[in-house]
Amino acid sequence: MCGIVAYTGYREAYPLIIKGLKRLEYRGYDSAGIALLNGGLRIYKKKGKVSELEESLKNLPLSGNIGLGHTRWATHGEPNDVNAHPHYSSDRKLAIIHNGIIENYDALKKELVNRGHVFLSETDSEVLIHFIEDIQVNSQCSLEEAVRLALHRIVGAYAIVILAQDASNQLIAARKGSPLVIGIGKANGPASEYFLASDATPIIEYTNEVVYLKDHEIAVIRDHQLSIKNIDDVPTTPYVQTLAMELESIEKGGYEHFMLKEIFEQPRSVYDSMRGRVNSKQGYLLLGGLREHLGRVAKAPRIIIVGCGTSWHAGLVAEYLFEEFARIPVEVEYASEFRYRNPVVNEGDVVVAISQSGETADTLAAIELAKAKGAFIFGVCNVVGSSIPRASHAGAYTHAGPEIGVASTKAFTAQVSVLAMMAIILANERGTISKGLFYQLLVELEAIPDKIDQVLQRSTRKVQHIANTFKDASNFLYLGRGYNFPVALEGALKLKEISYIHAEGYPAAEMKHGPIALIDEAMPVVFIATRDSSYEKIVSNIQEVRARKGRVIAVVTEGEQLISQMAEFVIEIPVAHEALMPLISVIPLQLLSYSIAVMRGCHVDQPRNLAKSVTVE
Ligand code: GLU
Repeated sequence: MCGIVAYTGYREAYPLIIKGLKRLEYRGYDSAGIALLNGGLRIYKKKGKVSELEESLKNLPLSGNIGLGHTRWATHGEPNDVNAHPHYSSDRKLAIIHNGIIENYDALKKELVNRGHVFLSETDSEVLIHFIEDIQVNSQCSLEEAVRLALHRIVGAYAIVILAQDASNQLIAARKGSPLVIGIGKANGPASEYFLASDATPIIEYTNEVVYLKDHEIAVIRDHQLSIKNIDDVPTTPYVQTLAMELESIEKGGYEHFMLKEIFEQPRSVYDSMRGRVNSKQGYLLLGGLREHLGRVAKAPRIIIVGCGTSWHAGLVAEYLFEEFARIPVEVEYASEFRYRNPVVNEGDVVVAISQSGETADTLAAIELAKAKGAFIFGVCNVVGSSIPRASHAGAYTHAGPEIGVASTKAFTAQVSVLAMMAIILANERGTISKGLFYQLLVELEAIPDKIDQVLQRSTRKVQHIANTFKDASNFLYLGRGYNFPVALEGALKLKEISYIHAEGYPAAEMKHGPIALIDEAMPVVFIATRDSSYEKIVSNIQEVRARKGRVIAVVTEGEQLISQMAEFVIEIPVAHEALMPLISVIPLQLLSYSIAVMRGCHVDQPRNLAKSVTVE
């Protein structure tokens, strides 16, 4: 959460920073601001989106080759002009942008107030820059040293960049817990250029050579040179990576919203998640990251899956997969609960950590906890080089490509696809499935991208019609059984996130233990009722809803007769093995929430109060 960008080099900094902030806006859009050395250190900031800031600055001559920018997801202090970043030090000679939370800000603030500091904002971030200034003034040390000493006393998470009025050729950056990437641009004669950002999306237009700053590292870019030291002042050698990301993958490509583009990318992204990993003709299934550790993972007495939000739903699907095929006991936990409840983790347990961004703060903390207790950590993440893969013993990337829409779609299906491959590999290794089923599942996996494509081609108009019928509903219920239960949860979450309609996902049989009381003629109930082992049971659940005049929308297998006569609306999807059905049955639910949100005039890619990549706890 919060996007940060900074630049130093030979180009005009302002247009580059504004563009970078737009690319990072998925991380937060409560306010935006920039700082430039433009005849002195100047900060321009404003509540609202980056485009509003840009509009307010359009008549100002903003020049200079160094600067920084921030797009905020507020944690401390409401979204307004004053709490927007960057923040000045008290002498207005330093400016900071910050992503994260300074947990001991209150105690530091009291200390600083006693020493005469006056704070303008309610943020924790302003406290940090005053604290750095205070150390520099009192210790008469360099800014770099003051940053280092200050960070030793900081509790919490941060990615920061600091610009100083007196150093026209210097940026100082540091991180702990929140991500920060440094792009190394092309040299222009003796001059070189550097880009700093929360992720690589603002950078790849200019360079694909990057360094991911590590926790407890401080980077100084001064006089066209990058140097990195750890917080104990020991120099480290920057590890320069070459990124494979394409610019077009982070642009809308003609779609109205990123979410729609990402929904329609799923035939491709699911294919990419399996590319080079599945080959039914040759009968192989391979996850590079698992191969070396297969013996250990396959012998695990227990697998614990941790994740948050949509990743947690993917984890629930994996629980069914791992237990059904590999016969390994599985627990699925919200990372935020797991880390605080003193869980029993034994040596030999395997923890599968799922996160799109690879930066989810609670999931990272859960990993550290499980690691300390001797568990083996397997990360399933989308963003290459992010923190969770680095903190894991092994892992598999989902290869879904950049996901920009705040409501996750293609990341979910790619996660489920990787987890399904993992379950089948473990089952094969443990001998818990027959060779016949193994080959059948490979064929079924390979067929999924096409089937997703069929759903997109055939059901979009129907879904729009359903959306139009129910767009003004105040509540929705989503019901499913077995593998389709997590899909019900995911469908409800999508609707809540982007259309602000209250929705509940439930195992269909649980309806009788409470939610059935909500059903009346105004309640749309979405059943995910494909032909699987619980088909008869869910048909009865549909009858129960109809008997109470609920309005039934059913996602069914193509050719379905019975439910088609019972439901007000049906959406047909192709036949697939029931264990892989979530990869297909979730698609119409994504489309439904998208269509309803658009019809309600909601801001689909940037829903209120949300942000992607939850780097705060
Ligand atoms: N804590 C800072 C603020 O509220 C930064 C928030 C964030 O990174 O999400 O302004």
